[in-house]
Amino acid sequence: MKITNVRFAKLVVPLITPFKTAMRTVENIEDLVVIIETDAGQVGYGSAPATPVITGDTHGSIIAAIETIMLPKLRGMDIENLNGIIDVIQYAMVNNSSAKAVLELAIYDLWGKLYNAPLYKLLGGGGDKATLKTDITISVDDIDKMVSDSVKAVDDGFNILKIKIGTDIKEDIERVKAIHQAVDNTVLLRLDVNQGWSAKQTVYAANHFENIGIQLELIEQPVSADDIAGLKYITERVHTPIMADESAFSPKQVIDLITSQSVDIINIKLMKTGGISNAIRIADIAKIYQVQCMIGCMLEGSIGVSAAAHLAVAKADVITKIDLDGPALGKFDPVAGGVSFNKSIIQLNNSPGLGIASINGLIELSSSN
Ligand code: MG
Repeated sequence: MKITNVRFAKLVVPLITPFKTAMRTVENIEDLVVIIETDAGQVGYGSAPATPVITGDTHGSIIAAIETIMLPKLRGMDIENLNGIIDVIQYAMVNNSSAKAVLELAIYDLWGKLYNAPLYKLLGGGGDKATLKTDITISVDDIDKMVSDSVKAVDDGFNILKIKIGTDIKEDIERVKAIHQAVDNTVLLRLDVNQGWSAKQTVYAANHFENIGIQLELIEQPVSADDIAGLKYITERVHTPIMADESAFSPKQVIDLITSQSVDIINIKLMKTGGISNAIRIADIAKIYQVQCMIGCMLEGSIGVSAAAHLAVAKADVITKIDLDGPALGKFDPVAGGVSFNKSIIQLNNSPGLGIASINGLIELSSSN
């Protein structure tokens, strides 16, 4: 099964509620879909969102990286030469992690189809544990809106809330207190500060929550992505677990974060790692150090998130926290087959690769034929 060509398409799904973080507001899930064609007639699917302020990648930059740099090297390569293909993708150019990720997703999809097995089983997972339970993101907003969104999420069956804050330390503390008071005590609260606080503000806030009996599951990326000293300062001073997101892209960065004891948990996202191969490495590194991982996603649809779900099932012993709510935030899922996303429940099946049967509403962009 040899690679012959790559096609590009766009997929847009309106959100149920606009997605707001300390960094941006978004109305739609907009994915670039990459379709790898082979001489065997099989195609592989991957998708990637534009995340200019996180990875630096846009749809245009991803297409350019693939068309001009990666595809010419990949044409004619055989899918059974998986390691060789991964090396070409990873070493063709520096950075461009989303371009590498979207290609890897489509390659692993084809790899599963080649051996007629679902990806999670080829990665060594499986048994009866092909179900995941995800948290849901509560967008940053005024307090009443965040409380009503949180109550609705709990009514919908979510028992873990990922609360987006980081706009104003005083208001952030009031937001968390109000949500904590409004939801049942069995609901776990994760805070995602999206780089919005200083190290000292984080220590102040975490101590405050600890002192008034609000037990948080974790605080995610409180300080700037490049402020590793700040993360370490916080981790040394608070009991609440601290998780790296924007600070943790590559396996090497994760080794540094763990061995310097700067964080307690690592958030793995395929768009940061450049796909599945480095995500596997990060999970294995974390396991060596007995550090837990979260699997996360960008604001993206079910093609890319399916791949993350396969990885999470395969590495369930170390990826213990699931934040794959992207597809559930959309008004519908245009992808049929494969992984199903129904509110908090993510269910994998035994279709080969990522298991995608069809995609409705693809807008073809260009072809390098
Ligand atoms: Mg985050």
